[in-house]
Amino acid sequence: MVIAIDGPAGAGKSTVARALADELGFTYLDSGAMYRCVALTCLDWGADPTASGEATSTAESIEIGFEDGLVLIDGVDVSDEIRSPEVTEAASQVSVHPGVRQAMVAEQQRLIATGPYVTEGRDIGTVVAPDSPLKIFLTASPEARAERRSGQTGEDVAEVLAAQEERDRRDSEREHGALRAADDAITIDSTDLTSEQVVAQIAELARERGLA
Ligand code: C5P
Repeated sequence: MVIAIDGPAGAGKSTVARALADELGFTYLDSGAMYRCVALTCLDWGADPTASGEATSTAESIEIGFEDGLVLIDGVDVSDEIRSPEVTEAASQVSVHPGVRQAMVAEQQRLIATGPYVTEGRDIGTVVAPDSPLKIFLTASPEARAERRSGQTGEDVAEVLAAQEERDRRDSEREHGALRAADDAITIDSTDLTSEQVVAQIAELARERGLA
């Protein structure tokens, strides 16, 4: 069983999903980290992230693991490396390819079948877990999202905003697994909310629905 939290970059999905999983005693799954692992491996191996065949065979060749809050590729900790701006850009590129998505979605479905999960991404409520009993679409204004990311990475806000616009466009326009709210998702705009307030709202919904 999975609580699905989808939305654009910088809406606060990771912070909210992690805290919600802690509160409910569920396991947290960061699906974006998996696309980032594919992207990092492409860059390390000299494969072209924009080339469907190269990115797909890279995705199919690696084993992505999650252990004690760390992200592992073939057993090696890459938790910090996958957060670099270069990997962020390449992750957006690899995630367009249907073959990459197919490999990631299959692995995500295998994981969430093993117990109660809070999973965040772009296509969790629409593709990975369309049967999820609680789907949240978490948004915030583009400016608020860019400011949050800049606060985390130290990059210039205007640069983050420009790069974010491009990734938002790619996320929304791609043919497979595009970023959109599921028909039965509840939209929460976090622009003027703290992460604690968002977590409290979702936890309340989970309890109302008898999920926790
Ligand atoms: O959420 P995060 O920024 O870490 O995601 C990294 C990249 O992975 C994004 O560019 C997004 O396009 C992609 N992604 C995706 N589907 C998901 C999660 C992330 O395509 N479920």
